[in-house]
Amino acid sequence: MAETIFQKIINGEIPASKVYETDTVLAFLDINPVHKGHTLVIPKKPIKDIHTLSDIAAGDLMRAIVVVADAVKKATGAPGINIISNNGSEAGQEVFHLHFHIIPRFNKTEFGRLPHTKYESDEEQVKIAQQIADMVKSQYKESE
Ligand code: AMP
Repeated sequence: MAETIFQKIINGEIPASKVYETDTVLAFLDINPVHKGHTLVIPKKPIKDIHTLSDIAAGDLMRAIVVVADAVKKATGAPGINIISNNGSEAGQEVFHLHFHIIPRFNKTEFGRLPHTKYESDEEQVKIAQQIADMVKSQYKESE
């Protein structure tokens, strides 16, 4: 994986406003915040996206997300928090080192939500749920 801007932050080659750090996880302010206090939580290992995250790294990362989300909420006084991770350029990922955005939110109408749609039929909904459930089952088999 080519070295990303976040790898440079981990290595101390460029500065960042760090707010939390463990052996495996780092959190720092996003340089272009949606709102002030917008924080990024990343694994220190060069993991590209959620699809290549191990179970152990996922545990460390989720614990850090919970800690930082709580701290951002209290420090900014935001009544709400969005936790977002863009995975793949089609989903808006620009830095290819896995990260979770912790975004303080003050008003639900300021950006709206992603537009939602409906399933064409109950059958379609059942079929898609089955496809995903089968995939989950096969992944657990693979890691046993
Ligand atoms: P994404 O579109 O999910 O890949 O988000 C990448 C995020 O990284 C953006 O919100 C950027 O503002 C942020 N970002 C890029 N460079 C830096 C940097 N040097 N320090 C902090 N945040 C950064």
